Amino acid sequence: MPDQQLYDNHGRPISYLRLAVTDRCNLRCFYCMPEEGIKYLPKKELLTFEEIERLITLMASLGISKIRLTGGEPFVRTDLMKLVRKIVTIEGVESLHLTTNGLLTAPYIQELKALGVASINLSLDTLDPERFNKITRRDEFGKTWSTLQLLLEEEIPVKINAVVMEGQNIEDIIPLVELTKNNNVSVRFIEEMPFNGEGNHYPKLTWTYKKILELIRAQYPTVLKLTDEPNSTSYNYRVPGYRGDFGVIAAFTRTFCGTCNRIRVTAQGVLKTCLYDHGVLNLKDLMRAEKSDSELKAELLRAFSNRPKDGFEAEKKRVLFPVMESMSTIGG
Ligand code: SAM
Ligand code: SF4
Repeated sequence: MPDQQLYDNHGRPISYLRLAVTDRCNLRCFYCMPEEGIKYLPKKELLTFEEIERLITLMASLGISKIRLTGGEPFVRTDLMKLVRKIVTIEGVESLHLTTNGLLTAPYIQELKALGVASINLSLDTLDPERFNKITRRDEFGKTWSTLQLLLEEEIPVKINAVVMEGQNIEDIIPLVELTKNNNVSVRFIEEMPFNGEGNHYPKLTWTYKKILELIRAQYPTVLKLTDEPNSTSYNYRVPGYRGDFGVIAAFTRTFCGTCNRIRVTAQGVLKTCLYDHGVLNLKDLMRAEKSDSELKAELLRAFSNRPKDGFEAEKKRVLFPVMESMSTIGG
């Protein structure tokens, strides 16, 4: 049992940590990184596995029970499975999830299942290999697709993350919904945010969650609204008779901040209490300065009681404005 359940200064429980194990990646997705990539952190700047275990143990004792490993591409981190094996044994961790592009994931799927990993989010923005190549700047559609098939075969709960981009994959929206017809998969359409290492791609975001929904409703007028989980960031729907479901995530419009239960730790060990803040506490520096567990807990609690009300407030308070760092460094 946790020592206490965490609440922030706006009365929201904090129960979900998304931790980036690396900022490196084997793709160069248009919405996440410039074509030439980003300047990666030197390896010594990444949290070590021991530091990650210590942080998760501390946070779990405070009531953070859901953990997601992300990146960068988590499977690019050497020996990632050693960390996964460890995290599932940490007291208070009720569920472990991963977000991956699927390129290196297939060999580990059976072990992930055996370890009880609760779900995998797979990034797949298009079902067309050529568009995949254009969006990710790598000709690797086949690997992501095979990983999806394996996840479905092994019946590991899988959500597909598809970022919706003007002029890039609008024609994929309906085929991705169609994928839910015969597959027990949840497809989530995400508004594109300017976290791409180079700044805003458009003067104004056209493909908002409302517009994505309008396009889907025009094709499927009888679409059913599902009940969303209490802290869900997606509004979820099902086409009647389809096995899977789909959702829309207002990542840029930020309609879900009022129930946000999540915090992030970046690849360089910085705590973010909102995706749009600029990092509020350097946990790596504190650990490397040999702070005790109780000192670290006190710092965490201080940060949690200073959370911005929403992503707009967080963005306003940033030192570096506007947002443009790559999602790969933040941990999506
Ligand atoms: N490499 C892994 C992957 O792609 O699944 C994990 C890290 S990636 C940063 C996590 C998620 O963030 C992906 O699903 C990706 O689609 C999403 N993402 C990245 N940049 C984004 C952006 N600018 N706007 C919206 N979502 C973004
Ligand atoms: Fe890599 Fe994921 Fe970013 Fe694509 S979204 S470049 S796969 S970190």
